[in-house]
Amino acid sequence: MSQVLNTPQTMTIPLFVGQGKIAYGEKPVPAPGPGQLLIEVKANALCGSDRGQFYDGSATTPGHEAAGVVVGTGEGTVTAVGMPGVVFLMDFCGECRSCKLGFTNQCLGKRADYGFSHDGGYGPYMVVNENVFFPMDPSIPFGEATMLLDIMGTGGHAIKRALQVHQDIEAILIGGAGPIGLGVLAMAKLLLGSGMPVFVMDFVPYRLELAKQMGAIPINLAEQQANDVIRAAGFGGVDAAIDTSGKTAGRHTALQALNQRGVLVCVGHGQELNLDVSSDLIAAERTVLGSEYFRYQELAENHALILEHLPYLRQIITHRFGIDRIQEAYELFFQGDTGKVLIEQ
Ligand SMILES: [Zn+2]
Ligand SMILES: [Zn+2]
Repeated sequence: MSQVLNTPQTMTIPLFVGQGKIAYGEKPVPAPGPGQLLIEVKANALCGSDRGQFYDGSATTPGHEAAGVVVGTGEGTVTAVGMPGVVFLMDFCGECRSCKLGFTNQCLGKRADYGFSHDGGYGPYMVVNENVFFPMDPSIPFGEATMLLDIMGTGGHAIKRALQVHQDIEAILIGGAGPIGLGVLAMAKLLLGSGMPVFVMDFVPYRLELAKQMGAIPINLAEQQANDVIRAAGFGGVDAAIDTSGKTAGRHTALQALNQRGVLVCVGHGQELNLDVSSDLIAAERTVLGSEYFRYQELAENHALILEHLPYLRQIITHRFGIDRIQEAYELFFQGDTGKVLIEQ
């Protein structure tokens, strides 16, 4: 049913003008077309993958980890005005071979990446196709709800990718304690049990401390060797390593820590990985695989988990800013001493 609440004609939006500078401009508030929803954005989380837009500039309004409330509905939609929820990054077609099997993160006819190809969640309002909106329980605060996306979604998907090839995981190594690494850590604990040993390596003491607080065994690569810490904890190696660093050195260290039958899941985009196929893969039957974002359907599973574990997950959020301080938020975030940083409107 088509309905739009009273909204202003224009809105102030941040302009990513490049070279690490964010200005402000005006834009008309968009109207939802057929099949679309108008969302009043309440929170959007900063992400390492915004780096390109922050330094190179962006023609669209960035923000791909948005939570908000529906304030307008286009023809043919069924979502009610007033419904809170989050926005799935990828506008999947729902009809291709991948989508039909539920692989919505591998859609062959993808129509948009909200926050990249189309305006995202740093504007006060955004329009999305209805299929990417995930309605949520109103008890979840909007800021915390953004964790359903890259934190729980991407983190949980990486763990599930590892489980596809290794069902008896006894220890995990995460290569990087940035927000995605913390998300993988949290989801490892929630999906595999709080007793699962999870090693997290990084160079940033602030992030390692946060990982420790969330139940990880920290490895400070500035002064420790990963294999030494893993052995000191009583393990010969790990069964799954999740690389969130995107660094060749980090992936190599992860590979060297893997047991026989171990699996390396690459989540962080970045540099290359060099393999000595005979010794690294064949002899020990190891697996290397990629993990990209997550399937829309995983939101329902993660929604149930966030309702149960909100205080634990909330620890990942360390800073909150209004949109008027977005410049400061990004500078702090890229400098490294943060967990997840939110813009709340
Ligand atoms: Zn992100
Ligand atoms: Zn598709």
